[in-house]
Amino acid sequence: MTRTAEDLAKAYFATGAVEELPSGHFIHGAFVPGSTGDMLESDDPGLARAFASFSAGNADDIAQAVESAEKGLAVWRDTPPAKRCQILNRAAALIRERGEYLAFVETLDSGKTLVEARGDVQSCARFFEYYAGAADKLEGSSIPLGPGLTSWTEREPVGITAHIIPWNYPTSTFARGIAPALAAGCAVVAKPAETTPFTALILAQWLHEAGVPAGVLNVVTGLGQDAGAPLVRHPSIAHVTFTGSVTTGVGVMQAAAPNVTRLTLELGGKSPLVALADCDLDRAVDGALWAIFSNAGQICSAGSRLVVERSIHDELLEKLIAKARALKLGHGLTTADVGAINSGLHLGRIAGHVDAARARGCRIVTGGQATLDPETGAGWFFEPTIIDDVAATDPAIQEEIFGPVLAVQVVDNEEEAIAIANATEYGLVAGIYTRDVGKALRLARSIDAGQVTVNDYWAGGIEVPFGGNRKSGFGREKGLEGIDAYTRTKAITIRH
Ligand code: NAD
Repeated sequence: MTRTAEDLAKAYFATGAVEELPSGHFIHGAFVPGSTGDMLESDDPGLARAFASFSAGNADDIAQAVESAEKGLAVWRDTPPAKRCQILNRAAALIRERGEYLAFVETLDSGKTLVEARGDVQSCARFFEYYAGAADKLEGSSIPLGPGLTSWTEREPVGITAHIIPWNYPTSTFARGIAPALAAGCAVVAKPAETTPFTALILAQWLHEAGVPAGVLNVVTGLGQDAGAPLVRHPSIAHVTFTGSVTTGVGVMQAAAPNVTRLTLELGGKSPLVALADCDLDRAVDGALWAIFSNAGQICSAGSRLVVERSIHDELLEKLIAKARALKLGHGLTTADVGAINSGLHLGRIAGHVDAARARGCRIVTGGQATLDPETGAGWFFEPTIIDDVAATDPAIQEEIFGPVLAVQVVDNEEEAIAIANATEYGLVAGIYTRDVGKALRLARSIDAGQVTVNDYWAGGIEVPFGGNRKSGFGREKGLEGIDAYTRTKAITIRH
């Protein structure tokens, strides 16, 4: 019988070690040691201590992985789509079957709660299942040119795709890009974040077991500069899918430019949750709470700004603060509501943003401090924090904090809510809470965001396209549109 994550957690807390973690890169269907033998450590954020080590990849490892992907591509793009579909469905089933182990490792590596990690594992399986279903439906069209000519289009895989994966959703971001790439017939080289390397390695092995041929899916671990940079500038890469910060994303764009490599960039945001005076207040309170405190706020699409109409501000804030204060922080492998911050470095960044806001005179109405797990006195945690009535130009409104920090903006009407919602450089998500369908539609159409939800901030699913406008990036992942990045159209015309 497969062990539950709770069983695995018990063994981990007793020994401080994790059994069966992969070591080395995953290249050509096997784990191989890094070219230098250099290792890096991965930390358990809930205890702020290392629990395992992994290979520090470099340009040589990337070259080996790309060479393997070239061989894999030759096999995979000619594998009948129906067969690719069967293999990816088998992978989804395997992920579900072994999901408890994956959720356990994800929790340990990222700091998130087990509940969240289990959700991510289900999303991961869904991505493979969803795009398995698309693999044999990538149809072209015929173009009428009149007698003597026959013209049609085919959709072919773009080639080898590179995937730079962040640390906040390692398992689901892996699947978000790699499932459609594989369904389209591409071969893949992935580079997970340096603080969360393990789930990508595990998934690569499982996909291979499910039937993905050697070379089709390769994973190289290591630092962004040492392993990520040589990957995105490699001339054999046809498309880069990058999720991470704006600064690194701009660098990736520049590195890809000389080879004219295609890109999908998912770069974060400062998304507004707009609560209008006529909303269902309790629903808005719960929406706002989990829009910012899920995954300890380390979400590109977090609702990090609450734009609230003045007449409901006091009541909404009072309820929200009470709920924020009641959240239990703790190690992800316990029953905590909110887990740890992924790294000491990132905890320092969050604290720096909040300290600067305090120094500017911003009103922090709850939280505001880095803290420890109350059970163990260890770990990297930050209190659920709310900063009230912040000016539109303040850095707490303009800068992505990427932590459990909500900035509140007060508005007097619908028009002001739209103006304020749009007044940052980002455009990823917007949540709207109102009972008035007319207002909901006007706001949904007027707010510059890749996706808008009404009366449920996280409404949606794998089926719904996702991506940003402006500095939140470009390209769409998820949904049927998500496969477009991994195919290109070839037009064939015959005179006869
Ligand atoms: P980052 O953008 O530097 O890292 C993201 C990924 O890019 C990691 O896998 C990293 O190894 C890789 N990387 C780094 N430098 C690279 C390079 N030169 N070439 C190729 N790949 C490279 O993000 P970070 O430093 O881990 O976090 C900083 C900020 O990024 C956070 O505070 C947050 O605002 C943002 N962030 C956003 C997301 C998101 O989902 N959009 C995810 C993680 C972090």
